[in-house]
Amino acid sequence: MKLSDPVSKLPGVGETYAKRLAKLKITSIYQLLHHYPDHYQDFSQITKIGLAKPQETVTVQGKIISITNRYRGRGKSLQKATVADETGQILVTWFNQPFLLNSLQEGKTISLSGPIETFGSLKTMTNPSFELVFPDRPTIHTGQIVAIYPETRGVSSKWLRSRIRVALKLPLEEFLPQELLVKENLLPYHKALKKIHFPQKRADILAAQNRLAFDELFLPQIKAQIKKQSWQKQRLAPAITSRKEEIKKFIAKLPFKLTQAQERIIQKTLRAMAKKTPMNQLLCGDVGSGKTIIAIMAAFAAWQNQLKTLVMAPTEILAKQHYDTFQKFLPSEVGVGLQTGAYKKNQAQADILIGTHALLFKKKLPESVGLVVIDEQHRFGVRQRSALIKANGSFFPHVLTMTATPIPRSVALVLHGNLDLSFLDQLPQNRKPVKTWLVPEKKRLSAYAWIKNQIKKAEAQVFIIYPLIEESEHETMKDIKAAVAEYEKLKKTVFADFRVALIHGRVKADKKNRIIKDFSQKKIDILVATSVVEVGLDIPGATIMVIEGANRFGLAQIHQLRGRIGRNDRQSYCFLFAPTRPGSKSYRRLKILEKTNLGFKLAQLDLEERGPGEIFGTAQHGFPEFKLAKLTDYRLVEKTRTWAKQLAKEGNLPNSLKKRLEEDKIGQIEPN
Ligand code: ADP
Ligand code: MG
Repeated sequence: MKLSDPVSKLPGVGETYAKRLAKLKITSIYQLLHHYPDHYQDFSQITKIGLAKPQETVTVQGKIISITNRYRGRGKSLQKATVADETGQILVTWFNQPFLLNSLQEGKTISLSGPIETFGSLKTMTNPSFELVFPDRPTIHTGQIVAIYPETRGVSSKWLRSRIRVALKLPLEEFLPQELLVKENLLPYHKALKKIHFPQKRADILAAQNRLAFDELFLPQIKAQIKKQSWQKQRLAPAITSRKEEIKKFIAKLPFKLTQAQERIIQKTLRAMAKKTPMNQLLCGDVGSGKTIIAIMAAFAAWQNQLKTLVMAPTEILAKQHYDTFQKFLPSEVGVGLQTGAYKKNQAQADILIGTHALLFKKKLPESVGLVVIDEQHRFGVRQRSALIKANGSFFPHVLTMTATPIPRSVALVLHGNLDLSFLDQLPQNRKPVKTWLVPEKKRLSAYAWIKNQIKKAEAQVFIIYPLIEESEHETMKDIKAAVAEYEKLKKTVFADFRVALIHGRVKADKKNRIIKDFSQKKIDILVATSVVEVGLDIPGATIMVIEGANRFGLAQIHQLRGRIGRNDRQSYCFLFAPTRPGSKSYRRLKILEKTNLGFKLAQLDLEERGPGEIFGTAQHGFPEFKLAKLTDYRLVEKTRTWAKQLAKEGNLPNSLKKRLEEDKIGQIEPN
């Protein structure tokens, strides 16, 4: 029997239980062992019956003097036993468990744990935990600190405990090097598992959790480091040298001064591209932090080396916007092309080819690609991303991926350990934080009045965003219909005096681009939209956003939406409407948006409140599970990262760890 075997192979489990366990996401023996208690009951105080005090929770042991079962009609029954030791007697009552009489027979020794009650001068226990006592076999349900597990129908903590005890007899080989265990003061693997399920004292639980939490953060990171190092060893990239003078000139010509963070990351990027190992950088930067210019600089360097650049963006609008922006900033001799479902522009002779997923279906991508840029990388699947990163001859392109997903730094380190991470952690100087309010329904009309006034007086431009109605990652017809209906209504009523336009996922590319263009040229006052505007759209003149059904969005998502405004030096305003009661959970969640404008801070709060599963959809993506470790525990992330880096180095990887990593699928939910 091995840890990776199906749990049904464990004695006493069988197919019925295996099915029930699957509901707890336990399919292998390994997963059973890593099904951790969610709390404990302290039954460690063992006492004589005569000395047990009322109200105390204790364990007593004695002989069963008598036991009876009484049916009380309607399927109800009562089991009563008298148990005695040399100091006294206790009366024990259970409800509706007539089968107890099969195993609890007169004359046998029983161990009972629970609170002591009194009935007159009689000591009693009601529904205590219990088990028969046998010589040479320690008790596991009484007489100690007892683990209580997440349960499911037909699978009790008592049952889990008994099966886990059997599983703990399997060989549980240590996989961390001794040196690490000593330095970090961690329990050996086997001991940790034993103690988390069967602790002898309180301190055992903490020590066990520490070790197992370390594993949770360490294992995905060492895998990532090994992947990164083998990638670097096996793949060659063209060294892209950039001429410093020309880069300087380029920067001097920009219409704004780069932030220090932008300067730093541009230098880092150019340095990485000058190497013969492919760059694989993930640039994390809040909405509006100015990531695009970094991609432009990198593409410029590639162009100086006669190498081409591919840029992939998740939406047509965004690809078109990049096409315009790249052209605006780059010297005219650099050929920029566009390839989307609807457009093909200069794509044949482009030095920089910008597109959507359509790039993936192109029969012949340009040769001698030196750089691939993927914007809003989280919107693409792993396969789509890697499909674009093809070798030309023996060379692989450098890769720059960008994301505005507000993700705490510590999380990025764990989840993207195979990439070089950069954090663009500074907004351009002229930005004012967007003022955000959660508006009660009764103030809707005054909010509209205020907005109208702002349009008239200050030429404000407004986004009105409608939520996805159904639970789906993409817009459905229903969403579109709702947005269309609201648009028709607003256009005829409240905003009848203004220029209102509508945009959603089904609007044809041509029309969509025209609307965006009109909006950016101030020919439209109000743009009603579904969440299609979430990513990347850059309309500096828009300063007001109304978000309807805000409760249907995650905090991070609203933050992205809100990032469409506040993109110049004027004050911007965001109004959230949501059918939430003051004090409710979703009300409190939305209130956070009023207080912070920092993406990573919101992500941190979102993470603490909803857990990584909900935010990153960890189960679907085969991300590691974090049951004990807190992704927000920056110190532990750093520590495990340092060890992972060191041990992943060639020659440092101990065999036991190698073996554990090969088997490691057992620890994870498979990606589907
Ligand atoms: P994001 O990081 O969200 O992709 P963009 O690259 O679209 O941000 O930049 C947002 C806006 O800020 C653009 O209009 C861009 O021209 C402008 N911008 C970028 N860097 C600076 C800067 N250092 N100072 C002022 N404006 C900047
Ligand atoms: Mg962007």
